[in-house]
Amino acid sequence: MTTLFISDLHLDPAHPDVARGFFRFMENDAPNAEALYILGDFFEAWIGDDLQHPFIEQVKQSLRTLSDKNIPIYLMHGNRDFLIGEQFCSETGCQLIDDPSIVELYGQKVLLMHGDTLCTNDVDYLAFRGMVRNPDWQQDFLSKSLQERLAIAENIRAASKEKTGQLEYEIMDVTQSEVEKVMAAHDVQLLIHGHTHRPAVHQLEINGKAAERVVLGDWHKAGWKLSFSEQGYELEEFLL
Ligand code: MN
Repeated sequence: MTTLFISDLHLDPAHPDVARGFFRFMENDAPNAEALYILGDFFEAWIGDDLQHPFIEQVKQSLRTLSDKNIPIYLMHGNRDFLIGEQFCSETGCQLIDDPSIVELYGQKVLLMHGDTLCTNDVDYLAFRGMVRNPDWQQDFLSKSLQERLAIAENIRAASKEKTGQLEYEIMDVTQSEVEKVMAAHDVQLLIHGHTHRPAVHQLEINGKAAERVVLGDWHKAGWKLSFSEQGYELEEFLL
C-alpha cells in the first residue's frame, strides 16, 4: 500500500486547471492509497469555514468522496490556509494535524511540516506568523463579517506581494541550520515539507547518520506527489 503526500496546490477559483488536476488525482490516485496527507497551502486563501462558494463546495465534495471510502485525509495548515477549522473538517472528513507532526510510516519515523517555520531568515514573516497564529487574533478575525475579512485578507496579500517582490531569492528558502536543528531535536532521518516551491530530495546528515529532506512541489505548472510505500518513496511530477 501507498501513502500519498501533496502540498501547495493553492486552490483558487481563478485557476480551474489546478482544480481539475486535483479532482483527477482524487479520482485516479488517491483511492488506491491507504492515506492522503496534505501538507499545507491547499487553498490559496482561507478566511473562515463559513465562506460558501461553488468552487469550495466542489473541493469539499472531492475530499468527502475519498474519506467516505475510509481513506484518511490528514490536513496540515499552511501559511495561507491556517484558518481551516473544525467545520471544514467535519464536512470533508479531513483530520487536522499539527505542524510539526511525527508519523511512523512503514517502520520509519518521519517529520512532517509545512515548511514556513524553517525559513528563519524571513524575520518579518515570522513576526506576522506569530500574530495570525495567536488564538485571540484568530477569534477576533473570525468574528468579523465576511466582507471585512475579505478586505483584510486582500490587504495582507497586497502587502506580502509587494514585499516578496523585493526579497532576496534565498531568503524564501529554508535555513539549513534550522532544518538540522529541528530534525535533530525530533531525532528523525526524514523530513517531508512543502512551502518553498522547490521540489527536491536533499541529502544531509543528522546526529551522525544519513538523512533526507523531501520537498514537495507546488501545483502552479504541474502536479507533484510523493508516494511512500514499504519499498521507499518517490517524488513525481505530473501533468495537470
Ligand atoms: Mn506556504
